[in-house]
Amino acid sequence: MKKYLRIILEVLLAVVLVAVATFAYTNYSGKKHMSDDLTQSTEELDQTKEALDKATEDLEANKEKIAALMKDQIQLNALKSAFANGVVLSDLDALYKKEKSIGADRQVGLGALRMLTNGVDDPGTISAFQKTLELAEWNTRLQTVCAAQNGLMSAGQKVTVLADCNKDAPPQKEVEEAQKKTLSENDFKWGYDGDAGPEHWGENFPTCAKGKKQSPMNIIGPFEKAKETLTVDYKEGALKMVNNGHTIKILPEPGSTMLVNKDLYDLVEVHFHRPSEEEVDGKSSAMVIHLLHKNKKGKLAVMAVLINEGKENPAIKLLWTNLPPKDKEGQEFAPPKVVFNPGTLLPSDLSHFTYEGSLSTPPCTEGVMNYVLKASVDLSKGQINKFPFKANARPVQDFNGRKIAATVTK
Ligand SMILES: [Zn+2]
Repeated sequence: MKKYLRIILEVLLAVVLVAVATFAYTNYSGKKHMSDDLTQSTEELDQTKEALDKATEDLEANKEKIAALMKDQIQLNALKSAFANGVVLSDLDALYKKEKSIGADRQVGLGALRMLTNGVDDPGTISAFQKTLELAEWNTRLQTVCAAQNGLMSAGQKVTVLADCNKDAPPQKEVEEAQKKTLSENDFKWGYDGDAGPEHWGENFPTCAKGKKQSPMNIIGPFEKAKETLTVDYKEGALKMVNNGHTIKILPEPGSTMLVNKDLYDLVEVHFHRPSEEEVDGKSSAMVIHLLHKNKKGKLAVMAVLINEGKENPAIKLLWTNLPPKDKEGQEFAPPKVVFNPGTLLPSDLSHFTYEGSLSTPPCTEGVMNYVLKASVDLSKGQINKFPFKANARPVQDFNGRKIAATVTK
């Protein structure tokens, strides 16, 4: 029995030893976990400290920017509170009520004022911006159009006219939009004589009076050397014309282009003045053809072809026999099966005089390059008299230090 007892004791002892060893191990590994955790926590704490330091640094660096933003905020709040009582808006409303129609520039201003006074939810805000879009002449008043579109977008409105303000818009579409837009510009009550004449344009279109680079000009030497070469590539297409009350306009086939050196312009419209607006050595010609072009950046270039009384002109014969009927003023007129290529209006030699000027009709927008061809074309006396406008030319404008350049004759 003693022998068995000893074996049992030895087994028990072994079990106890195993138990102690297991406990010790468990205990050890547990502590290791704890120490691991502690190390990790310390690391995390260090990282947090770093992040905090960086945030503090950033805050220091942004203090200036924040100060500037605060200044803007204060100014905007001051502006809002100045308009908040609505006195300015009601004054302006009363002022505008006296006038039958107000132009695009004033509409966009009215929209902005309404936005500041009544907020974007005021239906008047939206309608003022929308009127701007309807009134603004697409060709020449891009900034007004863009201002109205931005206003509408800020008011959460869907913009009805495709953004020409978007530089990536395809050029073809731009030309089509521009042509559509020219049809709705009959809101301007300007003309060529009396109270509506050129002397009074500045009252409604300040640039016409205050601009320092206005068109047309009297072309007189000495000339600088012209740096531009013109190359045209006009396309034949269905003849489309409009009598807009100021002139006869031709809406050319999209894809008709002019290269000014390497800069590509689309031909947007062709129209006529009688007599010519440009003078050469103080003398005007019987008429002039203006070919208005626009490049992708919205820059405008007008090519002018002077017309002298002489032989019958076959290209213009085609136009004059298809003139829009008198009761169709302001509407696009497309006689069936008549095709026309604006290139037929040009002389073969595109040597020219050039100067920086403006549109010669309201709103007299500046930044327009003028290229007046040296070679003129002929029109018979009968053809000149058939043009429906007897006098639609703006007088020549001050040089204000401008120089005229001329291509060198070979
Ligand atoms: Zn013109």
